Amino acid sequence: MPDLHRKIEILADAAKYDASCASSAAPKRDSRDQRGLGSTSGMGICHSYAPDGRCISLLKILLTNWCQYDCLYCVNRVSSDVPRARFTPEEVVELTLDFYRRNLIEGLFLSSGIVRSPDHTMEQLVEVARSLREDHHFRGYIHLKTIPDASDDLLARAGRHADRLSINIELPSADALRALAPEKDAAGISRSMARIRTRLDETAAARRAPVAPRSMAGATPRVPRPPRFAPAGQSTQMVVGADASDDRSILKTSVALYRRHKLKRVYYSAFSPIPHASPRLPAQAAPLMREHRLYQADWLMRFYGFEEHELVTPGGMLSLAIDPKLAWALAHPEAFPVDVNRAPRETLLRVPGLGSTSVERLLAARRVRTLRQADIARLGTESARVLCFVVLPDHRPDAQALQRWLARDGRRRAGDAEPGDAAAIRPARKPSPQLDLFAPAVAVP
Ligand code: SF4
Repeated sequence: MPDLHRKIEILADAAKYDASCASSAAPKRDSRDQRGLGSTSGMGICHSYAPDGRCISLLKILLTNWCQYDCLYCVNRVSSDVPRARFTPEEVVELTLDFYRRNLIEGLFLSSGIVRSPDHTMEQLVEVARSLREDHHFRGYIHLKTIPDASDDLLARAGRHADRLSINIELPSADALRALAPEKDAAGISRSMARIRTRLDETAAARRAPVAPRSMAGATPRVPRPPRFAPAGQSTQMVVGADASDDRSILKTSVALYRRHKLKRVYYSAFSPIPHASPRLPAQAAPLMREHRLYQADWLMRFYGFEEHELVTPGGMLSLAIDPKLAWALAHPEAFPVDVNRAPRETLLRVPGLGSTSVERLLAARRVRTLRQADIARLGTESARVLCFVVLPDHRPDAQALQRWLARDGRRRAGDAEPGDAAAIRPARKPSPQLDLFAPAVAVP
């Protein structure tokens, strides 16, 4: 049986493939050059965002990497030849409290391979969260990975103790799931998400219900508030590039998940080859830029009014070379230039370089005066991009403005590569092993 140190090594490393707790598109940084403190990638501790927007560090770990399922894309599958380890719930509780007391983490992200049965595995995960909350009054953030097909009662208990629950959809289509993860069932995953959504809705409705003051004569007695249920909602993760699904079908699946199950986030995880992989999987890793573009498109669909079919090329893929909003604008010259003083919000939101906050600022300012070029310049670094697509009383983009900006932007991003050229993709940075629980301490200058 591996000792505790070895178990942490194995189970923190095994958890790194799950991106659903972290902002995996964040730029990779570390402090190995002894300048600065902290890092954003690696294993053991990951960064996540709390519902109030704070960036928090989570202990990211598996209860066990034993698994009776054989999902081909997963390093923990039953046929995988990797070292195995298993924590007891008490060990995870102790570790969490220990790291928390040492100020290394602010919460826990806990997942697990499936052992014996979904209910048995879920029971263990719930026990960790219960013990942290009830026995140790732990107030930190808890994200529990939920095992599809676990019982309703276990789901309710998980939601009572965890801030967020997530169930991985794994792959964009039921066919892909059947081919690569035969023991998993797309309908079952969807059912579990629906059960979480129902509980979230019921809890929210019950908490909104007015409560009559006790002092009011004849008032119905105060009913106790319902127990909390996963106040940070539910999320999921999709592996990108393990099957032949194009970006259009991935984004369509995301749209359906957001609508049907009110997910807080869909996380995209670029497939990376695993040891002793099945020949049915691609030999190459999916480009990280593809994952990044999916996050951008996802954002544009949720907050900027785009639909998935507007963002992909006729071949069904997002451009890797330029961001999806710019790609849409270049494909629709008839939509530009946009009059900043007259255009409605939804049109302004489609202008490359204008974010939702900038649009609100422009809308507020133009209520009291006519906006001019200097107002766009005041928006910040993206103003050169914005000015290629808008008209103002003292500005009209000339025919070459966009070409000049594209050329400058292309050079800025990738030396002298032509804009739109695949080579203009920023070269992948060297992966940086980071915030590893066992990394040697780095002296702070
Ligand atoms: S059920 Fe989860 S841990 Fe098990 S093989 Fe499939 S993806 Fe991996």
